[in-house]
Amino acid sequence: MSTLSHFINGELVSNSSSRVGNVYNPALGEVVRQVSLAEVSDAQKAINAASVAFPSWRDTSLAKRTQVMFAFREILNATKNELAAIITEEHGKTLPDALGEVSRGLEVVEFATGLAHQLKGSFSESVSTGIDVYSLKQPLGVVGIISPFNFPAMVPMWFFPVAIAAGNTVVLKPSEKNPSAALWIAEKLKQAGLPDGVFNVLQGDKVAVDELLSNPLVEAISFVGSTPIAKYVYETGTANGKRVQALGGAKNHMLVLPDADLDLVADSAINAGFGSAGERCMAISVVLAVEPIADELISKIASRMAALTVGDGTLGCDMGPLITKEHRDKVSSYIDLAIADKAEVVVDGRGIEVNGSASGFWLGPTLIDKVPVTSKVYQDEIFGPVLSVIRVQSFAEGVELINAGKYGNGTAIFTNDGGAARRFQNEIEVGMIGINVPIPVPVSYYSFGGVKSSLFGDTKAHGVQGFNFFTKEKTVTSRWLDPSHGGINLGFPQN
Ligand code: NAD
Repeated sequence: MSTLSHFINGELVSNSSSRVGNVYNPALGEVVRQVSLAEVSDAQKAINAASVAFPSWRDTSLAKRTQVMFAFREILNATKNELAAIITEEHGKTLPDALGEVSRGLEVVEFATGLAHQLKGSFSESVSTGIDVYSLKQPLGVVGIISPFNFPAMVPMWFFPVAIAAGNTVVLKPSEKNPSAALWIAEKLKQAGLPDGVFNVLQGDKVAVDELLSNPLVEAISFVGSTPIAKYVYETGTANGKRVQALGGAKNHMLVLPDADLDLVADSAINAGFGSAGERCMAISVVLAVEPIADELISKIASRMAALTVGDGTLGCDMGPLITKEHRDKVSSYIDLAIADKAEVVVDGRGIEVNGSASGFWLGPTLIDKVPVTSKVYQDEIFGPVLSVIRVQSFAEGVELINAGKYGNGTAIFTNDGGAARRFQNEIEVGMIGINVPIPVPVSYYSFGGVKSSLFGDTKAHGVQGFNFFTKEKTVTSRWLDPSHGGINLGFPQN
């Protein structure tokens, strides 16, 4: 069985120990390869390589950096099916969904090709007599990117194109559950002409993360994952003086007003609830139905669910397996909990027939009505194909419920009332809002991120905020003396 290793300074580098993790094909339920788990010395090797590469990459012209980003964009676009197949094998999502993930990542690469514009400073002439002020945007140095299993290509691509375009060097620590995509990307960046050491892949777990959080050569950390780990990464990284953005978990609600188009709502609830087996941080996990529409809406959703096919993502199904057996069992346990809490399981995804191996980590789409807000089914991030329905009596009750939640990643309102939608966008305490759009993932030139326990730190991913995160601003006040300079003056210049 092969063991994946690190990619450091432009080449594959073996681990210093034999510590490994298993990588599964979740549709087969089998270990397909292993991955090295870095020791501290391996993490240091990757960080040192990035540190050595930094001065020359920082001084590489914007023109040259732009060429590398364009070349990478072309290579990625021409070979994206290869990456999609790698994602499907190790994650389980369907091939079209994997391709969709790559396309969203590609958009960030395209955004990063506009680096010359994003890195412009500003200039003010004659702020005082003979004095000019201007600002510079400079890279930070070595940045660490730590990514989750659910988007092995897209989440790293939210960060590294912008970080590299801005002149930083990168150590990416992908999820140990699906580590191949990062290595594929590293090879393609090299092929695009990126100098060795600018992009490194460090395979591993907490040991690697902790070294990234404490090593003094690392200036900044971009993290995406569950809320407890995001909080830990933010608190540890900032305590060690690093700039940190840590995106956490989610529990996204869809508020459906009685005037909404219920067919559109039912389609949207299915797509956003069960796409990628619900393993998306922007998945809808709760439908808040403003009465009297709940019965009609549930029947429309349930009838569509009957037609969904579950199976191996390479075989043309709607939905694939969950990432591991442990995760599948945990998600499935929420169905038992719902029954114990007196909710009504309308569609039970356990024991579903699948198009694939019997040993895959399967759980079919599940719909649960009348979930009590006190139930853990409502309060926890389940991260699987389990859609809860809560019946509310008014717009205000729905908004209050959403705002009382601890997460604030995404939300959506479905209505034909423009005034209600406008009020919703003003009052709702959530970072990304859809109006008749169920998964409002911002395009690359806007920024991605939530509020409350969905984002620790004050800067989101990509867009203008991404360039701000990966640069430090310097402000220069300059005077070139001319013969008429005014002599000694101990006060601030006034004019
Ligand atoms: P996770 O928190 O288990 O892992 C994320 C990363 O942290 C991985 O690289 C992992 O190796 C590392 N890690 C795990 N345990 C650690 C520890 N104890 N100390 C240090 N590092 C550790 O998350 P996951 O299961 O891979 O991904 C799913 C989670 O990610 C969900 O909660 C989902 O909502 C969240 N997510 C959020 C967003 C967002 O944009 N807010 C996007 C994608 C996923």
